[in-house]
Amino acid sequence: MVLNTLGFQINFKPFLIGLDRTEFFCFSAYILMMASSPYLSVVIPVYNEANNLQALYTRLKAVLDQLGKGYEIIFTNDGSVDASMQYLSSFYKEDPKHVRVIDFNGNFGQHTAIIAGFEKARGDVIFTLDADLQNPPEEIPKLLAKIEEGYDMVGGYRRLRQDSSLRKLASKLINWFRELSTDIKMTDQGCMLRAYKRPIIDAIIRCVERSTFIPALAYKFAARPAEVEVDHHERAEGVSKYSYYKLIRLNFDLITGFTLMPLQLFTIFGMLTSIMNGILVSVLLYRRFAYGPEAEGLFTLFAILFFLISVAITGIGLIGEYVGRTYQAVQQRPRYIIRQVLEDLS
Ligand code: UDP
Ligand code: MG
Repeated sequence: MVLNTLGFQINFKPFLIGLDRTEFFCFSAYILMMASSPYLSVVIPVYNEANNLQALYTRLKAVLDQLGKGYEIIFTNDGSVDASMQYLSSFYKEDPKHVRVIDFNGNFGQHTAIIAGFEKARGDVIFTLDADLQNPPEEIPKLLAKIEEGYDMVGGYRRLRQDSSLRKLASKLINWFRELSTDIKMTDQGCMLRAYKRPIIDAIIRCVERSTFIPALAYKFAARPAEVEVDHHERAEGVSKYSYYKLIRLNFDLITGFTLMPLQLFTIFGMLTSIMNGILVSVLLYRRFAYGPEAEGLFTLFAILFFLISVAITGIGLIGEYVGRTYQAVQQRPRYIIRQVLEDLS
């Protein structure tokens, strides 16, 4: 059997002998799809970014056109309630060969939106980018050049990060704890301007975890990671889509998803306090028999007790975080629901 695909004569006879009709058509469709796959995919999660999308699209398209390589832009509309979807539909109508839109049926979160984009992406090199223009699209060629040097994942780290001091401080704290408790080495885990080679994305897609942190997950699969410094701007329009509560949840995802160290620290702390409590009880027992009943030191004892109770409550909460995530994993509900996909793969 000789298949004439885009002018190439490929002899599939040894392989095709065992295929039935349906398998044969699926295989041919796959070959055709691969033959027309773009080299670059850019995945962008969008949640109520209507006022940023036109500028983002214009600047991104200019950069990608200038690179002169095949590309696709995959937007995931993560349940926006503003006019974001109208903008995305108009980009698709304007250029269906380069734009694909995944429209979620609700808000499933930034990282889930990116995963959905990864599942559709066909490129050899896949970029992620925020929609609010904090990550300038003009930095993409710099990341691509680094990937083409032979690295399989290139992360950006933000020069002069333009966010509030409180957020920068919280990030520093989480960065420090992540360095301490995992083997993941990253200068700036929060920067989503990143590039990945195809095998990394394939590995990420195979992971079934519900709450994840993509840069850390990718790092686990990367054999040759690299970093480049990138510009960072203030959000062009609108406000951050992360409340402090959502940010805390995201950072819990990072910590619980990649290390058991918090649980182990609690176990060690529990063992140490048990030893100290054993000594305290022995001293108090001795004094009870040596000097009779005493009331002095009552408040010190209360202080110790309250401290240990608060530590115990934190510990229960911490175990709950891990158990809750295990429960979600066992439930195996779909991670997201898609309302519609706008794409033209012909
Ligand atoms: N985003 C999303 N779903 C969400 C929250 C955010 O798709 O639930 C997108 C958002 O539209 C943006 C990116 O994720 O493209 C980063 O969000 P944001 O800029 O609000 O985060 P920050 O820069 O404040 O960390
Ligand atoms: Mg932002």
